[in-house]
Amino acid sequence: MKQRIGIGFDVHRLEQGRRCILGGIELPHDRGPAGHSDGDAVLHAITDAVLGAAGLDDIGTLYPDDAPEWKDASSKRLLRGAMERVADAGYRVGNVDVVIATEGPRIAPYRAAMRESIAELLAVEPDAVNVKGKTLEGLGALAGGTGVAVQAVALLESI
Ligand code: MG
Repeated sequence: MKQRIGIGFDVHRLEQGRRCILGGIELPHDRGPAGHSDGDAVLHAITDAVLGAAGLDDIGTLYPDDAPEWKDASSKRLLRGAMERVADAGYRVGNVDVVIATEGPRIAPYRAAMRESIAELLAVEPDAVNVKGKTLEGLGALAGGTGVAVQAVALLESI
């Protein structure tokens, strides 16, 4: 069995009045990630990790942020499309691990729901998906709840 690893990273500004959708679920929060799509930085980072592992074009190339088709689109569509390309390239997901860095929303209460949501999109069991939240310790540009940064790593296995 051949294995390949990929990394993804994404940052989105959090704005008042936006739904807070991360990892494919809606979190109760007064701000949400701004973006051309629904702004789901978690799914965007995972999308780039699986595409990168398969040696495919990145999310910005496949889904340009000036394309009307992806305006306000659910990022689940982007990840599902990426997974079709990954399968066409002869791979399936082994596991993914994700770090969500933000001063809010709190991630811990929603970890289980997020893992299930992501696992369904990746066609793996929830135990093949790990998600953890990290605060910024009040430091840097993301402190004060103004944004969310996400890092994801994905392992692919040949089908
Ligand atoms: Mg993004």
